Amino acid sequence: MWSEAKHLSVATSGTCTRRGFLRRAGVGTVGLLVTRSLPVRAAEATVKIERLETFPVRYPTVGYFKFFEGPPGTPPGRPAVLVKITADNGAVGWGESVPIPKWSYETLESATTTIAGYLRPMLLGRDVFDLAGAHEAMDSAIAGSFSTGMPIAKAGLDMALHDLAGNVVKQSLAQRWGRPRGGPITLSWTLNPRTLDEVEPLIEEGWKRGYLNFNVKVAPDPEFDVAMCKRVKQRVPGGFLWADANGGYDLATALEVAPKLANAGVAVLEQPLKPNRLSGCRELKKQGALPIILDEGVVSPQDLIEFIRLGLLDGVAMKPARCGGLLPARRQVEILRDAGLMFLGSGLTDPDVSLAASLALYGAYGLQFPAALNGPQFLGESLIKKPFKPRDGQLEVPEGPGLGIEVDEDKVKDLVRRSQTAG
Ligand SMILES: [Mg+2]
Repeated sequence: MWSEAKHLSVATSGTCTRRGFLRRAGVGTVGLLVTRSLPVRAAEATVKIERLETFPVRYPTVGYFKFFEGPPGTPPGRPAVLVKITADNGAVGWGESVPIPKWSYETLESATTTIAGYLRPMLLGRDVFDLAGAHEAMDSAIAGSFSTGMPIAKAGLDMALHDLAGNVVKQSLAQRWGRPRGGPITLSWTLNPRTLDEVEPLIEEGWKRGYLNFNVKVAPDPEFDVAMCKRVKQRVPGGFLWADANGGYDLATALEVAPKLANAGVAVLEQPLKPNRLSGCRELKKQGALPIILDEGVVSPQDLIEFIRLGLLDGVAMKPARCGGLLPARRQVEILRDAGLMFLGSGLTDPDVSLAASLALYGAYGLQFPAALNGPQFLGESLIKKPFKPRDGQLEVPEGPGLGIEVDEDKVKDLVRRSQTAG
């Protein structure tokens, strides 16, 4: 996998492919058209959205992960809003919005009120199968600023609509997309040590569960980061080592540390700078020490098209939750594929409903790298009847209709109650 990553990064970092691709002026259009191509059957058009319910919860967490540390007094747990959409024929679809305020600006409360007060009224009565129309309606109620507004809240509704449409016609997402189910998805174990002494035991934990690949949280301390990556590479020489700075370096530090991380065996550097440091991204890409992968800054497909045109990136760490859901995420994967750029699979420590959406996307589009889907690593509870349990560091892509999972509504309501009392 390591050598494959290096090969891919070299093969895709040349400008010819990208420029040729952009000259065809199809970069946006290709991705946008492909995902609109499914015909809507006459029978499908008669099913309407009748009810939309929200269930705000906080999942218990396991172990230390910096994004789950809230302000003093914040209830513990990983916030999420389960969404249940019921159609007028009685069919049901589930989705899940997964805000992490320390990662971006959406909160459990803002996602809940945005869905209930602003997005739900736009979706009630709409055709279940008109996903593009649902996104247009949601965007008309909650406008964007630089990019899509409240994408994490919208993603839960997008997932629920995908699940519902699949359940109505008894098709999996891959079948709806005309693609293979794919999988199993190889997972990456997330390392977020606070001291170098923690590195080895954290790797051991992953090893014990069959994980062979590791993604590390880096920044802001470059000396610590290089030392940490050297230790990981010594311990796991054959694993794919992926460093994510979550925008935590300044440009000078990033330019200095990137070659050192490369020497330490890191394969890709994700989101080295804050999302709006565009010229800095271009400098890092020009430096060429490591493939520059963006995450936080790429929300809508149009962002991605612009960033490709500006030469800011070698690839994207995809996550449907960040992009407003599966429809925009699919468009982005198709844009990356058409541009010859890297498509990595990541997540927002997704609980099982949101996790199912990511697995479907990554399986159907043949993800080539270990996915940083760390919900099973950091979450202590599941709300579906057959919780995802990685085997040998891998997860199968569900094959049933819709998201391929069965939500346990009693468990959902129980966690809602417990989350309220914890607050
Ligand atoms: Mg990231």
